[in-house]
Amino acid sequence: MNLDPLARYARQMRVSHVGRSGQEALRAARVLLVGCGALGTAIADLLVRAGVGFLRIADRDLVELTNLQRQTLFDERDARESWPKAEAAARRLREVNAEVEIEACVRDVGADELPELARDVDLLLDGTDNFETRYLLNDFAVHVGKPWIYGGAVGDHGLEMAVIPGRTACLRCIFPEPPSAGVSETCETAGVLGPLTALIAALQAADALKILSGHREAIASELLQVELWSRRVQALRIPRQADCACCVRRELPYLDGAAGATRAESLCGRNTVQLRPAIHARIDLERLSARLAREGLVFERSRFWIRFRAEELELTAFPDGRALVHGTDEPARARSFYSRWIGS
Ligand SMILES: [Zn+2]
Repeated sequence: MNLDPLARYARQMRVSHVGRSGQEALRAARVLLVGCGALGTAIADLLVRAGVGFLRIADRDLVELTNLQRQTLFDERDARESWPKAEAAARRLREVNAEVEIEACVRDVGADELPELARDVDLLLDGTDNFETRYLLNDFAVHVGKPWIYGGAVGDHGLEMAVIPGRTACLRCIFPEPPSAGVSETCETAGVLGPLTALIAALQAADALKILSGHREAIASELLQVELWSRRVQALRIPRQADCACCVRRELPYLDGAAGATRAESLCGRNTVQLRPAIHARIDLERLSARLAREGLVFERSRFWIRFRAEELELTAFPDGRALVHGTDEPARARSFYSRWIGS
């Protein structure tokens, strides 16, 4: 019988970058994962197997059959029984490694929830599918000086970058503003390849291992860009921007609520949720209708709005960024639907 509590990590410790001290640091490390879809499940799986001490998983969605193509912790039973993703992931991961403390939070993570969820962790990981939450993660990380790791994947192209506040560029050094709603593609509209999300998540998990095992110096101020189909991988060196509104001027509108936070309210008795995104958000009806047409979705268009149906819900989008989601009175479901089809 082997009494060494770290014996199960022998292969990982043998990698000189990790070693025994790195493994011990990992065991003491605490992580918050926001979003447990394609990126989140793969990140969580890798980190739990690697032996992080504590993992908190926050996600607002339920498992669906169409998730199984790429969301590696879930199975058909989870989809059939509509398990919350955070709970299904936690159940599975506890079977993988009972030594890791895993906490499932079935929550919609906004500016009100994030400080509490991240209060006692060393690192934040982005497993989300929307820019609203990513800009919030960036504001928060810069504000409290904790590292976070960005990852995004749509179609066959993906991006990955670790942010260490005060040392590397932050998300807004590269993209000062999020793309306007309805313009950029989402996984729902453009699809996504399982091998791509596995690859981006692996890059995020690798950067997490560097940070958590005590090797922050191994993190470069770089955005990694992957085009999977053509096998193109590019590391773009990103210097910190001398006048970055976030990490230099310390304007944190996504955290303090001045921007970003989509307000969702259930319209009583109408089975409808109204979403009012950031003040400066605009939906370009022209570009949105062109995109929906390109993707083969059936929609109606007037001078004032665009309306389409998917997943038993109907969404009416207005140029000022507002949207009505008919067919539900659950704000979290409506927000999730909006970010999947319109993007944010
Ligand atoms: Zn910055």
